[in-house]
Amino acid sequence: MSNPFFETWSTPFGTPPFDSIKTAHFRPAYLKALTGHQAEIDSIAGNAEAPSFDNTVVALEHAGQLLRRVEMIFGQLSSANTNDEMQAVEREMSPLVTRHWTGIYLNPKLFARIDDLYRRRTSLGLDPESLRVLERYHLDFVRTGAKLTDAQRERFAAIMERLSVLGTTFSQNVLADEQQVFALTESEVAGLPDFALASAAETARDRKLNAPFAATVSRSSVEPILHFASDRIVREKIWRAFVNRGHNGNAQDNRQVIAEMVALRAELASLLGYDSYAAYKLDDSMAKTPAAAQKLMEDVWAPGQQRAEEDRDALQQLMDADGGMLEAWDWRYYSEKLRKARYDFDENELKPYFELDKVIDAAFFTAGRLFGVSFRLLDDVEVYHPDVRVWAVEREGKTIGLFYGDFFARPSKRSGAWMTSFRDQQKLGGEVLPLVVNTCNFNKPPEGEPALLSLDEARTVFHEFGHGLHGLLSNVTYPRISGTSVVRDFVELPSQIYEHWLETPPVLARLTHYKTGAPIPPALLERMKAARKANKGFETVEFVSSAILDMAFHSLPAGAPVESDAVEQQTLERIGMPREIALRHASAHFGHLFSGDGYAAGYYSYLWSEVLDADGFTAFEEAGDPFDPATAERLYTYVYSGGGSRDFAEAYRLFRGRDPDINGLLAKRGFAALTPGADSVAS
Ligand SMILES: [Zn+2]
Repeated sequence: MSNPFFETWSTPFGTPPFDSIKTAHFRPAYLKALTGHQAEIDSIAGNAEAPSFDNTVVALEHAGQLLRRVEMIFGQLSSANTNDEMQAVEREMSPLVTRHWTGIYLNPKLFARIDDLYRRRTSLGLDPESLRVLERYHLDFVRTGAKLTDAQRERFAAIMERLSVLGTTFSQNVLADEQQVFALTESEVAGLPDFALASAAETARDRKLNAPFAATVSRSSVEPILHFASDRIVREKIWRAFVNRGHNGNAQDNRQVIAEMVALRAELASLLGYDSYAAYKLDDSMAKTPAAAQKLMEDVWAPGQQRAEEDRDALQQLMDADGGMLEAWDWRYYSEKLRKARYDFDENELKPYFELDKVIDAAFFTAGRLFGVSFRLLDDVEVYHPDVRVWAVEREGKTIGLFYGDFFARPSKRSGAWMTSFRDQQKLGGEVLPLVVNTCNFNKPPEGEPALLSLDEARTVFHEFGHGLHGLLSNVTYPRISGTSVVRDFVELPSQIYEHWLETPPVLARLTHYKTGAPIPPALLERMKAARKANKGFETVEFVSSAILDMAFHSLPAGAPVESDAVEQQTLERIGMPREIALRHASAHFGHLFSGDGYAAGYYSYLWSEVLDADGFTAFEEAGDPFDPATAERLYTYVYSGGGSRDFAEAYRLFRGRDPDINGLLAKRGFAALTPGADSVAS
């Protein structure tokens, strides 16, 4: 059988030929890629010549190209356009791939070569980037068990493989529960604004229900109901389905999966000589220790919880008119009313100005002003779904990469928003252009109507595009440190700082009414700015509680019994979680922690990065211009284009001229500042 993965791609920019890639191609491509990469590894490890940087590190960087190609494409398709057949391939391949990589990191001959080079690193005559890559390789091997005894290695490998199987099970269980759909009558959707009614009607048609409206349990479907549906019974029903994903006592219940994953991670950390999985994970981060991350979370938790309690009393007063005690499914509904009462601001007034295409254009405009890049829509690049669009990204007269945008929700896509790539930037064997993807889950408007976003969704476009630029502007030699290959608590800096530009005057000026072309009225903008601090107690509490829960799971010592409901309940009691607010992610569907390892003991990173983004953006404010060229140049050099080529605390200092300070974050949330200088978080 011919297989596009085995051919040279003569497509524009060597893009993946999606028209010819079929699900049946992945399994043989994976098998051949794994075998081929193993042969390359064996030849590097068994090389009779003495280790050199070229015959070891550079050779490793060149190896595994087919595997990279298959994995990057499969990774996106199995998240954004999956089906039963893809899921079966995922279940079969995920443990094989993990076993393959674990085998590489635990290969004693290979590690001996890297260790030898590492010991001689200062006398090898390496440039700073090459030296950094050697150090990262050494650290990767040590952190993945290279120094373990034979018996420990065997156990380590078995744990890694089992964790990968469990991660796949976890995601597939959540996805199965997310397929639930609720038919709704006319009266049950009372209160919903037009955009939400239109998409609820679309959902009913899509799912072929004999009902005028319907809601799924995806966040984009649930949020409008919780914010606007006046029928309290409907709010409660949808809320319960949403918070119970993965926790329904059915075949897809994730509690046992979590217990096993947490126990295995603790054991793995203990094999590597750490007290907990959190201590192991944070050893390679900006925060360095769980205590430093915990301190930041507690510094933000206290004022957040206090603000939430004040807001709760105000919400209950509003609710008294309707009767009843405020519950978790009432919070958003009454907070909308409170927002209107306090700030006279209704988010829906903004929506006509936030048409998706204009928001994308505004994100492009921002990149142009900051970094001198421009975008050109391409019509000759193959895509994996008709909703996907592709742009060429140009800078200084050259194409520097391609940007794929996949913005609308569909049943074959997991929820959330993310950035990934089909190919990373590097220059090792000549210039390789990055192919970067942004995926979102906005409700698709009915045929012929514009996609109008909420302020939050517009921020999501900017956030993911910030990650996208981190991949697109990458300007390094080695794949290992390309683009977003940075530590977890630094990776959200380029995305979160980018959100700030959405609300700058030159960007807002481009967001004109989709029908009339009029700019956002100044009075509405004023009310929007004033309302920015609304509900920050709730947002802080729902986020920080999830981050503290993550740290609680991953601070458990090896051998401790894990009962996920108990860990969750005890953690919430300990921190004094207001009963009217739910975790942003309860453990049973907390994909950041359990769909793979991505943010395990790392959910705090968003907050850590927020310290950096709030503090970093004030550099532009201090310069008196949101596009100040000198500040933008430093941001480009040390943050967006540098990949992992520097120590991250140092990269931040080079950009900002000093260590970050938490007060920018507290001010952004409308909380009182801590004593100046008392709380620098960089270590
Ligand atoms: Zn992000």
